[in-house]
Amino acid sequence: MTRDLYIRTIEQHPDKIWDFIIIGGGATGLGAGVDAASRGYDTLLLEQYDFSKGTSSRSTKLIHGGVRYLAQGDISMVLEALEERGLLRQNAPHLFRNLKFIIPSYEWWGGPFYTVGLKVYDMMSGRLDLGPSEYLSREEIMDAIPNLVQDELKGGVIYHDGQFDDSRLAINLAQTIVENGGYVLNYFNVTGLLKDQEGMINGVICTDEETGKQYNIYSKIVINATGVFVDDILRMDEKKHRNTVVPSQGVHLVLDRSFLTGDYAIMIPRTSDGRVLFAVPWHDKVVVGTTDTLVETACIEPRALDEEIEFILTTAVKYLRKAPSRKDVLSVFAGLRPLAAPEEEGQETKEISRGHKITVSLSGLITIMGGKWTTYRKMAEDVIDKAEILGGFEHIPCVTRNMPVHGFVKNINRKDHLYVFGSDLTKIRRMISENPKLGEKIHTALPYLKVEVVWAVRHEMARTVEDVLARRTRALFLDAAASMEMAPIVGKIMGKELGKRRSWRKKQVESYLKTASGYILN
Ligand SMILES: Cc1cc2nc3c(=O)[nH]c(=O)nc-3n(C[C@H](O)[C@H](O)[C@H](O)COP(=O)(O)OP(=O)(O)OC[C@H]3O[C@@H](n4cnc5c(N)ncnc54)[C@H](O)[C@@H]3O)c2cc1C
Repeated sequence: MTRDLYIRTIEQHPDKIWDFIIIGGGATGLGAGVDAASRGYDTLLLEQYDFSKGTSSRSTKLIHGGVRYLAQGDISMVLEALEERGLLRQNAPHLFRNLKFIIPSYEWWGGPFYTVGLKVYDMMSGRLDLGPSEYLSREEIMDAIPNLVQDELKGGVIYHDGQFDDSRLAINLAQTIVENGGYVLNYFNVTGLLKDQEGMINGVICTDEETGKQYNIYSKIVINATGVFVDDILRMDEKKHRNTVVPSQGVHLVLDRSFLTGDYAIMIPRTSDGRVLFAVPWHDKVVVGTTDTLVETACIEPRALDEEIEFILTTAVKYLRKAPSRKDVLSVFAGLRPLAAPEEEGQETKEISRGHKITVSLSGLITIMGGKWTTYRKMAEDVIDKAEILGGFEHIPCVTRNMPVHGFVKNINRKDHLYVFGSDLTKIRRMISENPKLGEKIHTALPYLKVEVVWAVRHEMARTVEDVLARRTRALFLDAAASMEMAPIVGKIMGKELGKRRSWRKKQVESYLKTASGYILN
């Protein structure tokens, strides 16, 4: 992934007409990029910040059918998500973990009730299932999760779902686009749409955020995959376009692993506000969340509200014996769900379908919104199928169902934190053996090594200190304070790799500290 080379090539061919330009480098856009490029289309993806800087790095990290959606009766969505869960396990095993979830029951009827529901969930997974759900006695639950509040505990149910690393998958998808002949550019902001004499969209106006240089790039089809920002792009096409997406904020708190030891996650199916709450072990920490708060406007760095933090902590205290408080929070992160605006007035956000929606504007702009990480591949297949018809292309069948994602490898040693690199791990190890200094840790609180910074710059298009600390490694999400202490070292290594001056490094570190301070609770 060589940003400068791609920009040079675009400059050398100003009249080139791409088959597809995809705006947005989150799960939706990257998925669409992989699908289009792997069908053989000339594909260019443009992301205004970094890949997965938006919602796609801020998920609960689950690849799941959605037990809650089953309870809501959204059977077709659960079936689709369960199938996609199985396909991701097959195509990106290096990032997928089969995780056991326990639903503790404090009512006598809870165990049998959920056991029946989860048997249906198992059946719906078909041949792609991850393992059977089963009822566990009070003693078995206490053995599995010693940290669980035990008063009144009656028993519980265990079931399986998937877990992943969202922004690592995003980077791997970007690499997969490139391997299939497509181009991806981060820090390329689309500021306008180009139209032909008939008013049909035939390209985009965009700016390289690093140089300020503006480009007109042409394509047969433009796909708007900008998550909570889809309406901004729609208004570039049609000034008075009404809002089609409602942003709904979800917050997570990250705690030390001592709050939830063992290999199991906890799922609370009905909190006091009627939502689901998860406590999930992730990269040797525990992620607890989430909330669902409607917000007026979308922004790229949403901030957790005090009431959201309080809600998560007070709910967690009911279930975790070691009660977490604000001072135990290592990181707090918020994300915005791009929910398709409700069809009925007064509908609550937790009731709005998580299914995706594809629209085509009169100008030919294709917009894809909603959905979830779990179904990114199917969403991509759907949108490219539609785009083929609109663009007058002869149909080329989708090939991603059985296509490995970059990094695919079967044998994974999860004890070594570098496992997320999958097939790239051999090359990373070689770099360390050639230069042992690269094997040094950056901070005692987190496992990350200097080699990961170098690798991220050379092979994963990391351009800023934040790219490395938030999305190539997950330091910001796992321990925000430690990540702030890592920033000067990361800045120094990156500055050297990118050939930047000292002033660049200083600005980078300052900017990172400002962003990261929003992930710390005072
Ligand atoms: C709290 C929370 C928890 C979730 N948990 C899960 C989960 O556990 N499992 C699951 O399957 N799903 C989960 N989801 C849903 C999932 O994360 C989202 O559906 C998915 O990440 C949305 O991806 P996206 O690409 O549509 O949006 P985004 O990731 O926001 O990507 C859109 C991108 O478009 C870019 N962009 C915007 N405007 C422009 C422009 N003008 N030019 C160029 N680029 C532009 C943005 O910078 C952004 O990077 C969760 C969501 C939230 C909020």
